[in-house]
Amino acid sequence: MANLRFEVVAEAYKKKPLEVITPAERPSDFFAKYVFNRAKMYKYLPADVYEKLTDVIDNGTRLDRSIADAVAKGMKQWANENGVTHYTHWFQPLTEGTAEKHDAFVEPDGKGGMIEEFSGKLLVQQEPDASSFPNGGIRNTFEARGYSAWDPTSPVFIIDDTLCIPTIFISYTGESLDYKAPLLRSLQAVNTAAAAVAQYFDPKVKKVSCNLGWEQEYFLVDESLYFARPDLMLTGRTLMGHDSAKNQQMDDHYFGTIPERVQAFMKDLEIHALELGIPCKTRHNEVAPNQFELAPIFEEANLAVDHNMLLMSLMKKVARKHSFRVLLHEKPFAGVNGSGKHNNWSLSTDTGVLLHAPGKNHDENLRFVVFIVETLMGVYRHNGLLKASIMSATNAHRLGGHEAPPAIISSFLGTQLSELLAQIESSNDDERFAVAGKKGVELDIDQIPQLLIDNTDRNRTSPFAFTGNRFEFRALGSEANCSSALIVLNSAVAEALNSFKQRVGALVQQGTDLKHAIVSVLRDDIRTCRPIVFDGNGYSEEWVKEAKRRGLDTETSCPLVFDRYLDEDSVHMFESLNVMHRNELQARNEVKWETYTKKIQIEARVLGDLCMNHIIPVATHYQSRLAKNVQSMFGIFANEKARILTSRNVKIIEEIAQRTQTIETEVEELVEARKVANNIQCEREKAIAYHDNIAPRMEVIRYEVDKLELLVADELWTLPKYRELLFIR
Ligand code: ADP
Ligand code: MG
Repeated sequence: MANLRFEVVAEAYKKKPLEVITPAERPSDFFAKYVFNRAKMYKYLPADVYEKLTDVIDNGTRLDRSIADAVAKGMKQWANENGVTHYTHWFQPLTEGTAEKHDAFVEPDGKGGMIEEFSGKLLVQQEPDASSFPNGGIRNTFEARGYSAWDPTSPVFIIDDTLCIPTIFISYTGESLDYKAPLLRSLQAVNTAAAAVAQYFDPKVKKVSCNLGWEQEYFLVDESLYFARPDLMLTGRTLMGHDSAKNQQMDDHYFGTIPERVQAFMKDLEIHALELGIPCKTRHNEVAPNQFELAPIFEEANLAVDHNMLLMSLMKKVARKHSFRVLLHEKPFAGVNGSGKHNNWSLSTDTGVLLHAPGKNHDENLRFVVFIVETLMGVYRHNGLLKASIMSATNAHRLGGHEAPPAIISSFLGTQLSELLAQIESSNDDERFAVAGKKGVELDIDQIPQLLIDNTDRNRTSPFAFTGNRFEFRALGSEANCSSALIVLNSAVAEALNSFKQRVGALVQQGTDLKHAIVSVLRDDIRTCRPIVFDGNGYSEEWVKEAKRRGLDTETSCPLVFDRYLDEDSVHMFESLNVMHRNELQARNEVKWETYTKKIQIEARVLGDLCMNHIIPVATHYQSRLAKNVQSMFGIFANEKARILTSRNVKIIEEIAQRTQTIETEVEELVEARKVANNIQCEREKAIAYHDNIAPRMEVIRYEVDKLELLVADELWTLPKYRELLFIR
């Protein structure tokens, strides 16, 4: 019997690494080759237009529409020189990934291929038919219009023959329908709040920007094997598959050399990424077999997010070229580590100060402590919401398991910083000032520089860890748009800083000296946010109990976690910072619930099909083979002897019968449960039904299938096994 599995395994083994030609120029020469960056703006734009545009980019001044035509003209010329024929507004709808609608520049001129039409108007605004993007009911069906509007702070770039223009995506009535618009507003909010506080320490600070350095984890699977796994193709993860006898126990993949075919893929990917201005820095194997990571140098957050989105789509494209499929799903394989996307996050000023880094003198260190503590305040106050921001049907698999990170948001500070905060908290004002005289405040804070030297202890179980000069938010899923988390984090920290400023201001008004006021408010806040600080093992059972006691959010049901977006505290925060309004939050939650439901629904369907069309037929086939054998044994041996000799096969026949029976019954019940859930009108209730009644049944079915995989003869099994998916490359 032909077995696709063996064909694809044989094929996969034969594949050789693709030869990747390294460009003749040095990376510094081809870096950002396809990006309309400052150097190109300078070259292609008139001087006054260049000045105005860079002012928009640097200082957030409003774009003067009158320069749009000149900018478009310059872009068009540059694009033309690079063989570009089309342009698109590139945006980030509420699905994963990015969207684009390509329009040709050309007006047919009979000769073909001329860029004729690209005015400022087309650069600044477009009207994609938006009715098929998720909008949570914001747009009535008769009002399908949505606008994409140019974001000048992220440079235009070229992919193949298309000029891509980063844009926000909003409804006809002005609500955001994407990730970028609220991200930009949250960046504005944290800029305003942080700059005001930073000015306590340096009045020259005018702007604070947010830095993001993401680390992208992913799996690679050979393309032939991928095509023989309908579950991977349709859902991005394996819905069944018994553990490979060997997987990540030996930790040998993590430290091992990168396999050659993968190395070629990485090299190719990096060349393309560098040409698009993505500053790739590190690449390495990850913990699980066939799992890898790529990380660039950190950049301004809006740009970093765009670069991450761009990289994810680039990865998919380049992987195909190398006969791989890239898996961005957070948990493609049970039993081995899933993939995340650590977000290294910090704030820095236009005067060149990293606000989350310890300084060189006492004042700088006080400033450092302020920004650390107020970040913790934001994370503490909105820990449930932060969890909601990284939660999804796919990432939920990761948060539940014993791998980074657990489903409770807490922050790891390391011993020194924890001790320092404890010291500030317990110190008595008068005493300290009296004892230490003029230098009182500074004496305690003086200890910080040591922190830099000793801060090597890492706690891999912490979802929000301080790592020397930044926080590392580790709970994000590999597939996620980083904006989702950044919108909440920036807003929460902005709110905390605003409140800090207001309370310090009140004390100063009452005549307290500024530094004294700062330390006093800090002390209150250290006390308040203490429950969020946790340096222990985030996977332990005790932590769940302890976290509950501390009042932290411990909910694990994905649809219920989404509720946090609609808590009054959350709505108030977003509205007061002008990041999002209630109706937008409601609409977004509708989309989240609906997406959750659809993902589980598709998985359930695929699982049902695979069971009925692959698993049960194969198991039954093997069972009949065994039955024939048993029968023939009775023809050869006397009854008693035959009974003894066939007892093992009879047992297997029986076990297969029981397991296939269970699978069949469970699949039927799964179908019934889906029918019931599908009749629910409310998206939230429907998602809850899918979470409570459908997802757990899939686990039961999987258990039986995986047992069958061990029972059935290897030569009959049609789906590539874990050992093949994880070790062939
Ligand atoms: P790890 O040890 O976790 O692998 P790396 O040193 O490789 O960390 O850095 C991970 C990411 O953090 C990189 O993108 C790096 O540029 C970024 N990063 C470093 N410092 C900061 C900072 N102050 N703020 C934001 N990101 C930073
Ligand atoms: Mg890291």
